[in-house]
Amino acid sequence: MIFAANFKMNHTRATTKAYLDVLAQKLVSKCSEDRVFIFPPATALDRYEGDFTIGVQNAYMAESGAYTGEIGLEQLEEFGIKTILIGHSERRDVLGEDQALVAEKFAYFKAQGFEIVYCIGEALEVREKGDEAVMAHLLSQFEGIDLSYEKLIIAYEPIWAIGTGRSATTEEISSTHASLKEHFDRPLLYGGSVKPENIKEITAIDGVDGVLVGSASLDVERFSEMIFA
Ligand code: PGA
Repeated sequence: MIFAANFKMNHTRATTKAYLDVLAQKLVSKCSEDRVFIFPPATALDRYEGDFTIGVQNAYMAESGAYTGEIGLEQLEEFGIKTILIGHSERRDVLGEDQALVAEKFAYFKAQGFEIVYCIGEALEVREKGDEAVMAHLLSQFEGIDLSYEKLIIAYEPIWAIGTGRSATTEEISSTHASLKEHFDRPLLYGGSVKPENIKEITAIDGVDGVLVGSASLDVERFSEMIFA
């Protein structure tokens, strides 16, 4: 299983370090087939010791240069970061990244050999139109994306389930994952209100290879509880 924690704009450098010290200790006894990813805010990136991979939540498509407010390869290389989250719904919807930009980022970081956790997901009004509309929307988010990239992990995160406490149902996850998996042969994570209370149910679903967790990952005890559930 893959367990990924997306801190979003939460935690400082100090609290990230304290969190990862605790997590590293706990992971000593983890099942060797599991993988753990942590996406802290950019200000907390560093080289941390532990059986987890640190990734960046966003970066720009250049080594360095005149891109105010962004970070690029030069800043990531300092900490050995080779993993990136691309296409999260908050970057698409709040920060205005359209599919063309998302695909451009994907191509750039693929060319740099990054491991990419690529997010897709539909809004509630699309889900309410039924399965066909959901799939059409999700497939449109694969436009320009090389689904055969060997360092690609895909995360299905229905937007209406993110940060709302309302996870998708087992049936919704199971049927969406099955349809998605007809299009690629890469690990597929589920994200959207995953928490200790529903982790077992979600990871037991056929076609779920792991989880991408926001709110419930912020507390190291709760996140570890999910890894060891
Ligand atoms: P959530 O966020 O776990 O708080 O719903 C998931 C995500 O946005 O990755």
